[in-house]
Order: sequence, then structure tokens, then C-alpha cells
Amino acid sequence: MNLILLGAPGAGKGTQADAIRDAFSIPAISTGNLLREGIKKGTSAGLKAKDYMDAGQLVPDDIVIDVLKERILQDDCKNGFILDGFPRSIPQAQALEKMGVKIDKVISIEVEDGEIVRRISGRRVCSACGTSYHITDNKPKKENICDKCGGKLIIRDDDTEETIKNRLEVYHNRTEPLKSFYKEEGKLIIVIGQKDVKDTTRLTLKALEG
Ligand code: ADP
Ligand code: ZN
Repeated sequence: MNLILLGAPGAGKGTQADAIRDAFSIPAISTGNLLREGIKKGTSAGLKAKDYMDAGQLVPDDIVIDVLKERILQDDCKNGFILDGFPRSIPQAQALEKMGVKIDKVISIEVEDGEIVRRISGRRVCSACGTSYHITDNKPKKENICDKCGGKLIIRDDDTEETIKNRLEVYHNRTEPLKSFYKEEGKLIIVIGQKDVKDTTRLTLKALEG
């Protein structure tokens, strides 16, 4: 099963991707995480991507497409995968088609802009494993420490008020058109993001059963 998760930055794509991964035993692939790893390691893709990411702009399609291609060719993707944050533009969706990747379902997690700003402003992420937390909605058990791996929680470089605005604009202009793209193919499922993450997860998993 090959799945795509769409949604604004901070809508909770990552959390939903992890839940699906655990329920269906297929890897969750976040191009944002792959690019951040590239930056840490100093790969050429990472070096090229950093300024775009810090500004809240999309990394150019050819760079992200290469990174994604390399990842899905790995062995663990043989039985399918969940794409979290890819595609983010029509050309990226067309690149998937060109690669011969058949998408089964596309889940769009819908959260309104005001709530997105609130969520991202309070977001903390694990510097080691990437798990997301929130200072009031989803606190770690120990302050600033990841429940899962004990890593230190940090504020992402691009989680600033200014950058959030850019990311939302980019989402509406470049990524949201993918909803019509996949709706026409009969693959689009809308999931309304709930206050409690667990409720959103229940809706997501239910959508995939049917
Ligand atoms: P979020 O969804 O919270 O914005 P991500 O980790 O998915 O976080 O993405 C962070 C940044 O990485 C994006 O703002 C963008 O600059 C870059 N990025 C990730 N995936 C893509 C993609 N498919 N195409 C272009 N840029 C991407
Ligand atoms: Zn962690």
C-alpha cells in the first residue's frame, strides 16, 4: 500500500504517518526529515536545501525528487510506504507517476490557518528522532526530553512566526492544488484534524480500513 499524507505545515502529518506506520508496518517517509538529515551530514542536497527551508519556501523540485527517489528504492519500501510531505507540488506528483509509483490513497489532514499558527508556535521536536511535541497540547513526560528516545527537544529553525506565514502561503498556492489532482483520480480522503491527536488518529485509521 502506497499512501500520501497532505496537509498544512503543523497539521499533524508526521504524527498520523507514525500511527499508520505502526498499524500497517510500512515505513513513513518525511522529505522534511530527509532534508534535515542531509543538512546535518552536509550532503549536497542538504546544502542546497537549507536556505529554502529556513525561509519557509519549497526546496526546488529536482532536489527533493532525487532525495525521495533514493529513499523509496530502499528495501524496506518493497511492501509500500507512507509519504509525509511529498508531493508538495503538481510536478512532484507527476514525478511519482513517471517513477511508476502507484498511489492507493491520499489523506488530507485539514486544520484551519489560525490553529496552524498556534500549533507551530508551540511546537518542539526531538533533535535525535524527530518526534513532535507541543508546549501545552502534547507535553513530553520530562520537560524538554523526548519520551521515545531521551533526545533533547528543540525549536526547529523554520518554526518562527515569519516563516510560518510563508509556509502557509506556499501550502495554499503550491500544495493544495494536489487535492483536486488526487480527487479526480478518486483517491482523496479528507480527515478533519481534531483537538485531541488521538481522535484524529482514529479517523485516519478508520478511513484506511474502508
Ligand atoms: P512542515 O510540514 O511542518 O512544514 P516538513 O518537515 O515536512 O515540515 O518540511 C520542512 C521544509 O522542508 C519545508 O518548508 C520545505 O522547505 C522543505 N520540504 C520538505 N518536503 C518538501 C517537498 N516535498 N518539496 C519541497 N520542499 C520540501
Ligand atoms: Zn526522540
